[in-house]
Amino acid sequence: MIRLQRQKVFDLLKKDSSHLLNKEINVKGWVRTRRGNKNVAFIALNDGSIIHNLQIVVDVNAFQNDELLRKVTTGACISVNGKLVASQGKGQAVEVQASEIHLYGTADPEKYPLQKKGHTLEFLREIAHLRPRTNTFGAVFRIRHALSFAIHRFFNENGFFYLHTPIITGSDAEGAGAMFRVTTLDMQNPPLDEQGKVDYSQDFFGKETNLTVSGQLEGELGALALSNIYTFGPTFRAENSNTSRHLSEFWMIEPEMAFYDIHDNMDLAESFLKYLIRYLLEHCDDDLAFLEKMYDKELTARLNMIVGKQFERITYTDAVEILENSGRTFEYPVKWGIDLQAEHERYLVEQEFKRPVIITDYPKDIKAFYMKLNDDGKTVRAMDVLFPKIGEIVGGSQREETYEKLYGRVKEMGIHEEDVWWYLETRKFGTAPHSGFGLGFERLMLFVTGMGNIRDVIPFPRAPQSAEF
Ligand code: ATP
Ligand code: MN
Repeated sequence: MIRLQRQKVFDLLKKDSSHLLNKEINVKGWVRTRRGNKNVAFIALNDGSIIHNLQIVVDVNAFQNDELLRKVTTGACISVNGKLVASQGKGQAVEVQASEIHLYGTADPEKYPLQKKGHTLEFLREIAHLRPRTNTFGAVFRIRHALSFAIHRFFNENGFFYLHTPIITGSDAEGAGAMFRVTTLDMQNPPLDEQGKVDYSQDFFGKETNLTVSGQLEGELGALALSNIYTFGPTFRAENSNTSRHLSEFWMIEPEMAFYDIHDNMDLAESFLKYLIRYLLEHCDDDLAFLEKMYDKELTARLNMIVGKQFERITYTDAVEILENSGRTFEYPVKWGIDLQAEHERYLVEQEFKRPVIITDYPKDIKAFYMKLNDDGKTVRAMDVLFPKIGEIVGGSQREETYEKLYGRVKEMGIHEEDVWWYLETRKFGTAPHSGFGLGFERLMLFVTGMGNIRDVIPFPRAPQSAEF
C-alpha cells in the first residue's frame, strides 16, 4: 500500500479540506456499517476524532478483492487510500473513493458485541472495554476531555497554579467518607502490637495510610503561599452507596484562594461554571446535539440557562423559610438545622427561582470543622451552588483562619490533633483569610451531557462490586 499522509475524519469534515479535494489521501478507523450492492459498497468509517462517520465508496467491480471486502464488517479496523471527492449523496460534504484498503483487524460478525445498534447503557457498562466505540461514549469522552481542558484553561487564564496534592494520605481529617486502606502488610499474617491490634508502625509508611477523599487541606497549604491554587485529581470513597450519583473513584476540582472572602468565592464559582459551559457550547456542539437528541431534549436549553442567568444568592435560613412556606410536602420534612436534600435543592432551583441558587451560612453542625464561624455562633460561612436536575454541584466556604476558633472546632468535633497539626500551624504562622470550593467533576459531567448515571460519564467506573475494566 502506498504511504500517504493520514487524515483525521475531524479535519476532513470540520476544517477546510478543499486543498485535498480530488487528491489521494489516507484515512484509518473502525467500520461502523457497510451497505451497498454487488456493484458498490458504502463503508461508514469512524476514527473517534468526531461523532460523524466518513463515507468510503468502493467500486466493487474495479476493486477486485471480494475476499478482503467480505471481511470489512462492523467493528473491523481498516486503512484506506483513496480520492477525497465532494459527496454525491446527502448527509456529508466529502467522501472517499477507495483505491486501496488494508485490513488491520477483523471483527467476527457472529461475535462482535457491537454488531447492532441500540444497546442499553446497562449492557454497555458490561462491555466497558468496547463501549468507547459507540457514538454515545465517543461523545461523552470527547466532552470529558474538553471539560478538563477548559478547567485548566480557566485557571491558567486567571493566575491559578495547578497544585498536585497527594493521592496517598496519612490523615483522615476531612471526614468526607469511608477511606480505602493503602498497605503493604501481609494480610494473612499482619504484625501485631501488644494489644493484639495490627501494628501499622511496621507498614510501608510507618503509619496508617489511605487513599485521599479530598485535596483541600493540602490545597490550603498551597494557597497560603502561592495565593491562588487549584487541584484536579482523583479522590476515593469507600462508601457502599450504589447510587446513580456516587462513584468509589471520582475526580474533584478544588480551587483555594488566599484573601478571598465568601463573596469572592461565590463570584469565582459562578464565573467558573459559566465559563466551562460556554466553552462546551462553543467547542462540543456536535456531541451535545447528539446527546440532546438521544437522551435529553432540554440539554442545550438548560446549558444556555446557566450561562444566561445570574445565580440567586440566599442564606440557608431564608431557604428554609421559603421551603416551609412552599405548601409542599417533602419526603424529608424541612426545619432549621436539617441538611438540605436534593428534593429541597431542586425545588428552590426549579420551582422558586428558575435559575441556579447559591445558599450560604449553613448551621455549623452540618458542615465541616474548617468553615469560618459567623458572629452568631450558630452558622458558618459555607456556600453551596445548586443546579437544576442535580441539586448541589459545588460545595465551598470561607475557611476559619483564627487559630483559637479552628482549634476549638477540632476539639469539639473529636478530630485527632496529631492528624492535623500541620494544618493548624498555617493559622499560627502568617494566617490569612482564604476561601475555596470543591466541584465533583463527574457530577458536572452528568449535568453537561444529560446522562442519567454517573457510571456513564467516566471511562472505567469504580463502584461497589465493580472494578473489572
Ligand atoms: P453527597 O451528599 O452527594 O454524597 P458529599 O456531601 O459527600 O456529597 P463532598 O464531600 O462535599 O460531597 O464532596 C465534594 C463534591 O464531590 C460533591 O459536591 C460532589 O460533587 C462530589 N462527590 C462527592 N461524593 C461523590 C461520589 N461518591 N462520586 C462522585 N462525586 C462525588
Ligand atoms: Mn457523600
